[in-house]
Amino acid sequence: MKKNLLKIIALTVASIMAVSVMSSCGSKKDADTEAEGTNTLTMATNAEFPPYEYYDGKDIVGIDAEVAAAIADKLGMELKIVDTAFDSIIPAIQAKKYDIGMAGMTVNDERLEQVNFSQPYAKGVQVVIVKEDSDITDVDDLFAEGSKHNVGVQTGTTGDIYTTEDIESADLGTVSRFNKGADAVEALKIDKVDCVVIDNEPAKAFVEKNPGLKILDTAYADEDYAIAVAKDNTELLDKINSALDELKADGTFQKIVDKYITAK
Ligand code: GLN
Repeated sequence: MKKNLLKIIALTVASIMAVSVMSSCGSKKDADTEAEGTNTLTMATNAEFPPYEYYDGKDIVGIDAEVAAAIADKLGMELKIVDTAFDSIIPAIQAKKYDIGMAGMTVNDERLEQVNFSQPYAKGVQVVIVKEDSDITDVDDLFAEGSKHNVGVQTGTTGDIYTTEDIESADLGTVSRFNKGADAVEALKIDKVDCVVIDNEPAKAFVEKNPGLKILDTAYADEDYAIAVAKDNTELLDKINSALDELKADGTFQKIVDKYITAK
């Protein structure tokens, strides 16, 4: 009898524990769902683009990461940053996989057909990185009749788009495409490419890290960076634009930029 009673108690304790484990699983699941839910602003980026987005240890930091966090804060949302290939950001935004694409992303007509962009928040310049002793001394050397340069770019970027049209299609050379800007720079160092066409701020960061390289004084193109949002998500777009207005007006935006870009 006593033995049976103990057995019943043991079984009861076990079933209470089982129920409590089940319910704690349940609440954990709810918490996860909530974390991905309406109160989370998901940002797709490509964290290979200093000083806009790059890794500091395990964290993605940079101007875009901090501006997005400040926007999320204004919207009363939690920011979640997802690192992905640059050329998969726009398709993912179109598919509503993430709320915003922020990756030093240039506004252009082709992309405007696929997504909406916020107001511009930065100027970008496509520049040319060469070795210090390169025979390419001006951007126009790339378009000179009979020239045959091999140009390194990051896949799907405007540097890729421009050089494919201006150089490859014009039979003035070839374009080598890399997953990361840093890989294109490595190729330049070992003479696999003659130059790299890339945005000015990452270019500065790469040249600083790699002695023997320089940026040409003449620029390839001027651009605007903005935040990509799905076409039909105009409500979020409006909120982001208002948040950007506020962050620009109260000095927060400039403070973030100054933290990462020092006037040289
Ligand atoms: N500004 C360029 C573009 O939008 C490059 C951006 C990037 O490599 N993150 O294509």
